[in-house]
Amino acid sequence: LAKGAGKGRWRRYQPAVHAAVLQRIELRAALEQAVADLDFTVAYQPIVGVESDATVGFEALVRWRHPTLGLVSPDEFIDVAEETGLIEPIGDWVLQQAIAAATRWPGTPYVSVNVSARQFRAPGFVENVRKELLAANLAPTRLVLEITERLLLRDDEQVWLDLTGLRELGVRIAIDDFGTGFSSLSYLQQVPIDILKIDKSFTATVASSARQQAIVDGIVRLAQTLSLDVVAEGIETAADRDLLRDIRCPYGQGYLYSHPLDPDDIDGWLRFERDTAGAEVAAIN
Ligand code: C2E
Ligand code: MG
Ligand code: MG
Ligand code: MG
Repeated sequence: LAKGAGKGRWRRYQPAVHAAVLQRIELRAALEQAVADLDFTVAYQPIVGVESDATVGFEALVRWRHPTLGLVSPDEFIDVAEETGLIEPIGDWVLQQAIAAATRWPGTPYVSVNVSARQFRAPGFVENVRKELLAANLAPTRLVLEITERLLLRDDEQVWLDLTGLRELGVRIAIDDFGTGFSSLSYLQQVPIDILKIDKSFTATVASSARQQAIVDGIVRLAQTLSLDVVAEGIETAADRDLLRDIRCPYGQGYLYSHPLDPDDIDGWLRFERDTAGAEVAAIN
């Protein structure tokens, strides 16, 4: 069993088994049914200050509540959801859930929502984001949308306009899995974005490889120069965290801090953090 599997309700599934069990056609049909029945749930993983350990936001991560297989990871179905177009209703639902969840959290952490290229390009996407924020009365500054380099590969005027429109609302844009897209860095000169999320393949070995360190350090410096924020994904060990501190990477996310949490556990997570931070201040005074 994977590390922490006993505790994490989210980590019960076994990718290899699923790949064998779910044939593609079956997967499509089952996913269609799941969309009709809304058999999904959203887990939220804390994003923290690397120096302070304080939570600044949460990434919304969808799971499929499969009737017999239990919780299925998005890695198992997002591709098929993209191909079939089911990603549009799934993504809209996740966005709505995430915005509603953020309105209930104590304090003002942001919620970071993954948006697939197809969902982003769907007509009315920006308008839908605006409507959802308004309906839930959530400040747009508390929403981050995570897109991938793939969306920026084609020089698409409409994508550029939509990104600009979202940022004019106050929504921030993050590039997810930064460094894995094989794309030219030239888009960074013009594309309206706010945050780079360093892919976990770089973070995972940062403490053991001088080359990886140089890459992560380079990305952090690049981001600084461009006035972008940085989040290192997939921080699993204290050694990784210490190195990211040395590099002065501002934000991080990973199993070291927390696995993705059940929505019901967020309130407790934030209150516990606030209370222990209060205790630290009290101890200093
Ligand atoms: P991502 O956006 O890069 O999300 C981070 C993934 O890394 C999550 O996997 C998270 O559980 C996992 N992770 C977090 N910390 C660690 C760590 O320390 N080590 C390791 N090895 N992994 C860590 P998850 O939840 O299985 O999601 C996989 C991918 O599915 C996401 O990658 C994202 O691309 C996609 N996804 C998830 N939810 C959505 C969604 O609502 N819409 C869309 N379009 N895609 C989604
Ligand atoms: Mg993401
Ligand atoms: Mg990522
Ligand atoms: Mg990913």
